[in-house]
Amino acid sequence: MPVTEMNLPDSPEPTTKMAGFPNYNSGPALRSFLDGRGLSIRKQWGQNFLINPRARHFLVDALEAENGAAVWEIGSGLGCMTHELLGRKLKITAFEIDPGLCSVLEELFAAWPDFTLIRGDVLKTWKTTERAPYLLGNLPYTVAAVLLGNLITDNCFFSRMIITVQKEVALRMAAKPGSKEYSSISVLCSSAYTMKIIMTLKGQSFYPVPRVDSAVVCFERLPNVPLPPPLFYPLLRSLFASRRKTIANNLLNFISRSCILNKTGTAAAIAEDVLKSCGLTGGERAEKLPCGTFLALASGLENCISCAGTKIKEGS
Ligand code: SAM
Repeated sequence: MPVTEMNLPDSPEPTTKMAGFPNYNSGPALRSFLDGRGLSIRKQWGQNFLINPRARHFLVDALEAENGAAVWEIGSGLGCMTHELLGRKLKITAFEIDPGLCSVLEELFAAWPDFTLIRGDVLKTWKTTERAPYLLGNLPYTVAAVLLGNLITDNCFFSRMIITVQKEVALRMAAKPGSKEYSSISVLCSSAYTMKIIMTLKGQSFYPVPRVDSAVVCFERLPNVPLPPPLFYPLLRSLFASRRKTIANNLLNFISRSCILNKTGTAAAIAEDVLKSCGLTGGERAEKLPCGTFLALASGLENCISCAGTKIKEGS
């Protein structure tokens, strides 16, 4: 069972009243800190600050990063997690999009040599930055899902990630085949990680209070997994695109759209061969299949395409 705010362990050093820092445990104090700098809380960037010190402590514990390890912190906000991470002797690369908050972070952490700030949209900046073995982020769901997708498909992996998102998105990330939350993001995540929801948080742990509950997903890198075949990602998107359709239908659509075919009927023949090579009838639906089946379909398709002397169109 995931931990909730009701049964979180006590944090040994509650981070209140640190000289120069805002009181991270009080919403009104954070608002007046921002007011004092002519800044405001920006809804469009999902700014709900984590004001529960025990939850912050729990998140950093869950990262299990060794002393001196490098950590990417996505969406640092006013630095409540940054402060907790630096206090544990970790080397932080912080990503933040809000220019006002970036100035605050630079001011607060100016004297900390293990703090580096990357200004701007993490979806654009992450590729320019040295990689790290750990990632921690409390993120708007729009950014979280796209970022995770981009990191995985671009082969940027972490030993461990602790990600706080809207509960509904967390459930999709950690969903198992056959459940109603199972989707392409569940398969994508499970191709590289094992996922577990380790904490759920009601809105009251944040300021301002969001309308939705949040959950924390712990991602642990799977050991010794080969990189998936290149067709895995586009095929996965396509097989989940029409959830009501069978695998046979979606596969045929994908082949017809993405392959350079010389004869009519080739797409259907390739689809049949691929399904046969994976032991599928074609009547299955994507929402019931485990990650291994999608991987087998992608490599089966690559083999059948080369046997049929066809090619995949550029950009498929
Ligand atoms: N880490 C802080 C905390 O826990 O209180 C702030 C979390 S707040 C939910 C999300 C933070 O992510 C905000 O500071 C927001 O400005 C930042 N953010 C949103 N979209 C972003 C993006 N695309 N790139 C970088 N930071 C982003």
